[in-house]
Amino acid sequence: MSKTVAFIGLGNMGGPMAANLVEAGFRVQGYDLSEDLLNAAAERGVEKASSATNAVAGARYVITMLPSDAAVESVYIDGTRLLAHIPEDALIIDCSTVSSATSKRLATQAKQRGLRAIDAPVSGGVAGAAAGTLSFMCGGDAEDVDSARELLSAMGANIFHAGAAGAGQTAKICNNMLLAIHMAGTAEALQLGVDNGLDPKVLSEIMLKSSGANWSLEKYNPMPGVMENVPASRDYSGGFQVQLMSKDLRLAQDTANASNSHTPLGSLVHNLFGLHGKMGNAGLDFSSIQQLFSRKIG
Ligand code: NAD
Repeated sequence: MSKTVAFIGLGNMGGPMAANLVEAGFRVQGYDLSEDLLNAAAERGVEKASSATNAVAGARYVITMLPSDAAVESVYIDGTRLLAHIPEDALIIDCSTVSSATSKRLATQAKQRGLRAIDAPVSGGVAGAAAGTLSFMCGGDAEDVDSARELLSAMGANIFHAGAAGAGQTAKICNNMLLAIHMAGTAEALQLGVDNGLDPKVLSEIMLKSSGANWSLEKYNPMPGVMENVPASRDYSGGFQVQLMSKDLRLAQDTANASNSHTPLGSLVHNLFGLHGKMGNAGLDFSSIQQLFSRKIG
């Protein structure tokens, strides 16, 4: 059985994910709009394709790791029309975080062409992508999710089946709404401590062993200088951009409106990250929300 994988979208997440597939012995045909990213992937063993259409030639799996609903729809359906070029027995795995509606549309359109598609958004950040420890939240038919497990295991440590097409996306936006809330809360608490004379390293150690402990504090401290190897300690570069978090928070609000759910904290962080992005920070890592609290007023 061919182990050729087409990988489209080789950015902060897709680049290291594709490299892990190469290391696991898959043949990876990669494509990205950025020539620089394509070259960087080639240095790690990814074969460069000159277009998305060329990348899927002979592929058993097609993975996309794209920034938005518009990009996913444009690649598969409306623009490049990749669905018309994907080999019949291939499995489509969209790892981008997009709306549940887009995932359902992709699954339906794929089915109409005799193809199989699952949504498989991820959690774990750039560090998790590099270490191959991502969590995948899959939506689609159980057999299709099962047939993706070997491949996904080369990039992640946890593979969940959340439900039918689009369910992976619903799980993902619930997770990211909570992530945004505890990141903003962590930044706010750290700044309160610093403003009152505490060393942020000491305060972080205290809260990590106390009831304020959370993932942002433990793995992704937003205060510069507290942790090595996190975006806060490299001027908030790399990582997960504010504009991508804002997109996820908008998806969460859309979902809440559709189900008449009340998400006051989700609404608050949607506004906080949106404003922070508009203040010139859209391309920074989302932990830069710390700057909103550390900015001196007056
Ligand atoms: P990114 O901007 O670094 O990468 C996206 C890549 O897609 C870019 O390199 C871009 O050139 C490429 N691209 C866009 N349109 C394309 C097209 N038509 N054809 C080929 N390539 C195209 O973003 P990222 O941080 O890697 O995030 C990708 C997805 O993963 C997003 O949906 C994001 O929400 C999600 N995500 C990101 C993180 C994270 O920590 N960065 C974590 C979990 C999930």
